[in-house]
Amino acid sequence: MVKVLVSSCLVGNKVRYNASCLSISEPELIWLNSNVELVIFCPEVSAGLPIPRAPAEIIAGQGVDVLDGLANVVGNDGIDVTTQFVSGAQNALELCQKHQIKYVVLAEGSPSCGSSKIYDGTFNGIKMDGSGVTTALLERNGIIVFSQHTIAKLRSTLEKQSQ
Ligand code: SF4
Repeated sequence: MVKVLVSSCLVGNKVRYNASCLSISEPELIWLNSNVELVIFCPEVSAGLPIPRAPAEIIAGQGVDVLDGLANVVGNDGIDVTTQFVSGAQNALELCQKHQIKYVVLAEGSPSCGSSKIYDGTFNGIKMDGSGVTTALLERNGIIVFSQHTIAKLRSTLEKQSQ
């Protein structure tokens, strides 16, 4: 069965900055559980960040800029957590490479896991187009990133492959 890495917070684990979780719709979770082997992972926790933790945003950039040393990730407490975010992304990549994972489902909006929207670095609750640090590193290495809102696309990709 194909392995798919999934953000830990999407399957009910309370690992987000505020110790909450997100969700995948029930039919899609049932489909995932029946058709792929889930590898559950949280980049930020893997890098040693605590639960709960200060919400963090990428300042003046997005995930690729953080990887290239052009932007930093900072908590709303002013503490720079760039090192931990990059380390979490590297941990995710290592896990994908170890399990030969080509597809991942990551939580939209996160400075690590976002794949089409992230917060704009002002801590005003404003989203902008962009992706997080883990998404950027995985995509840079050829891994295809879906979110909890695009699982239908993952399904159609896998169904085409099996034809
Ligand atoms: Fe969820 Fe990713 Fe944030 Fe971990 S880093 S809590 S998996 S969105």
